[in-house]
Amino acid sequence: MNLDETSTGSAARTRRIIVAIDGPAGAGKSTIARHLARHFGLLNLETGAMYRAFALKALRGEVPLGDSHALEQLAAETTIRLEPDEVENRVVLDGEDVTGLIRNQTVTDAASRVSVFPPIRAWMVRLQQELGATGGVVMEGRDIGTVVFPHADAKIFLDAAPEVRGMRRFDQLGPTPAQQPEEVIRDLRERDYRDRHRVDSPLLPAADAVLLDSTSMSLEEAVKAAEEIVAERLAAHTR
Ligand code: C5P
Repeated sequence: MNLDETSTGSAARTRRIIVAIDGPAGAGKSTIARHLARHFGLLNLETGAMYRAFALKALRGEVPLGDSHALEQLAAETTIRLEPDEVENRVVLDGEDVTGLIRNQTVTDAASRVSVFPPIRAWMVRLQQELGATGGVVMEGRDIGTVVFPHADAKIFLDAAPEVRGMRRFDQLGPTPAQQPEEVIRDLRERDYRDRHRVDSPLLPAADAVLLDSTSMSLEEAVKAAEEIVAERLAAHTR
């Protein structure tokens, strides 16, 4: 960490700021949130991991993913904890560390399905508001700037063309990907559609969010741009 980062970080920590990052899948939210957390000395909270953990529990219990009532009952007997770490969030489901079990395609698809139901969202939003209540956080998801923390100090809506997001996802799948690029792009479009068209808190930019389209940027350039946006918002707040 250089001197500039240290002073920026401690200033942000002292003010207990909240940075909200929203956007569709594969836009680079996690990478950017992780960097901002390090740079400004904040905790990084990935709300998608919470929906994923709950989806894993529903899959394990063979609870129908379209049954709002059954899911609500399941939620009532579920505890989910998010423990921020340097690299990623540890996700603890009913006392079990499930961090390594929630990134596969089955859970990804299930998370997108269970997250459309208002009782599930209300429960998650409450948990997330408790997690960020003392501030000093970067929280990333789909509804952070609109619903979870509408008064966040800085909001970024990160986007990129579906093909670009799909190819970034494909590249993350490693040397022997289980899916072809076209399948990754198709899955991503399906999830986007569900997120953008659900009745309860659909994915959309908050009125006061700064839009960052990384379609023709490298991830490094997008990270730099996000850093500048947050620094500018923080400076404006302290003026
Ligand atoms: O961000 P991630 O891809 O891990 O999120 C998994 C799913 O959880 C998303 O496809 C979305 O449907 C849902 N989600 C949500 N609201 C959030 C975070 C995630 O609906 N704040």
